[in-house]
Amino acid sequence: MANYDAIIIGTGQSGPALARRLVAAGRQVAIIERKLFGGTCVNTGCTPTKTLIASAYAAHLARRAAEYGVTVGGPVGVDMKAVKARKDAVSGASSNAVERSLKTLKGCTVYEGHARFVGPKQVNVGEEELRAERVFINVGGRALVPPIPGLDDVGYLTNSSMMDVDFLPRHLLVLGGSYVGLEFAQMYRRFGSQVTVIELAPRLIAREDDDVSRAIAEILKEENVDIRVNNKVVGVEQDGKNVAVTVETEGTRSRVVGSHLLLAIGRRPNTDDLGLDKAEVATDSRGYIQVDDQLRTNVPGIWALGDCNGRGAFTHTSYNDFEIVAANLLDNDQRRVSDRITAYALYTDPPLGRAGMTEAEVRKSGRPALIATMAMEDVSRAYEKGETKGFMKILVDGETKQILGASLLGLSGDEVIHCILDVMYAKAPATVLQRAMHIHPTVSEFIPTMLEDLAPLQ
Ligand SMILES: Cc1cc2nc3c(=O)[nH]c(=O)nc-3n(C[C@H](O)[C@H](O)[C@H](O)COP(=O)(O)OP(=O)(O)OC[C@H]3O[C@@H](n4cnc5c(N)ncnc54)[C@H](O)[C@@H]3O)c2cc1C
Repeated sequence: MANYDAIIIGTGQSGPALARRLVAAGRQVAIIERKLFGGTCVNTGCTPTKTLIASAYAAHLARRAAEYGVTVGGPVGVDMKAVKARKDAVSGASSNAVERSLKTLKGCTVYEGHARFVGPKQVNVGEEELRAERVFINVGGRALVPPIPGLDDVGYLTNSSMMDVDFLPRHLLVLGGSYVGLEFAQMYRRFGSQVTVIELAPRLIAREDDDVSRAIAEILKEENVDIRVNNKVVGVEQDGKNVAVTVETEGTRSRVVGSHLLLAIGRRPNTDDLGLDKAEVATDSRGYIQVDDQLRTNVPGIWALGDCNGRGAFTHTSYNDFEIVAANLLDNDQRRVSDRITAYALYTDPPLGRAGMTEAEVRKSGRPALIATMAMEDVSRAYEKGETKGFMKILVDGETKQILGASLLGLSGDEVIHCILDVMYAKAPATVLQRAMHIHPTVSEFIPTMLEDLAPLQ
């Protein structure tokens, strides 16, 4: 039995950072990884997809070169082996850096293998038995594979196996019109695949406002992504070399046939083979570990961080979980999950930057509010760059004048959103932002301009 002050299960976005803080505070730490160091973000999530999206953007821009007066000597080709090699280099460097930093961290012992609880304070990795007063779970999640009839008999792809693709699928069927599905859909369309998105809900990314969802659908349709909403998948079968998906729309069945099938309909936590019952750690009906506002589970001495606690599904929420746990444990600083403001981006082109409440949420709250919108066509920087798709929207509390939320679908929306997010964290009224002098020419300079047009939300 090896004794430690702390055991960390998983090397996702909170585990390694927490290991470093604990070791710096003089604790002996064991950290366990069963597969790739750095977890989803680094190996099969953010880093590789954003690297691939950069290649897809280059292809897209090259095809538009003539619009900028640039001559490309012939048709634009995409070398998928080279695209994958670039992605592997970027992802690999990040994963190796996490592995190296943990393996050379004094006071931290790395175990490679699958960890399972055998008791509240005891975790086994293969034959190794580890014990600690404190255990931190950072096991993340994986693609949800739904019980669709026939699915097991056809080859399908997930975000993980997509990372091995070094060829151009002739026709990619994407099940799921949400964040992960749409990023892959646009990316592969730009690489040259025919792409069909099949979505059960009446519109794409149903969590977003209707106008945002419609604008994104339009952008994708203009690039000839075939979008089918209101389509319930009732079966999947092999059709020669193809995959056939049977869908039902308003009682009528039809088949959609493609060369490859990507599942992007959601995630599930990696908690099903963790021996949580041995430690009596409580989960909800979907397997997410239940935690309080400081990320403590129901068992004293056990915390859950990152996607597996269901309190966030992003790299930044997982990293923020680390900050909250470290602040409470080591800094006597009572940080809480409820302190954070919703923020994320969808990395289509143009991207969607989101902060705080949607318009639908503001309406539902019933509070008096102000709203302002601006088309990206009216943003000079976007015009100059020839990237004028999308629009920006901001909502402000009618009484306090604090910003309630924003959706920025447009050039640099993923970056510009931070000028709004930071004012929200400062709890300053929108007038502070409205009076700020921003740099010209940028997209950000139009946020104060947009605020001049605030009008009551009808
Ligand atoms: C395609 C895709 C794109 C994404 N893009 C973005 C984006 O652009 N921005 C963003 O913020 N988020 C994005 N995300 C989400 C983001 O990747 C995750 O929210 C983030 O990685 C947080 O993960 P985590 O820290 O919870 O754990 P993870 O990163 O999932 O890591 C968990 C680790 O635990 C290990 N593990 C699991 N069980 C065990 C066990 N029993 N024993 C030992 N080790 C174990 C796993 O092998 C893994 O390495 C994306 C996700 C996907 C799928």
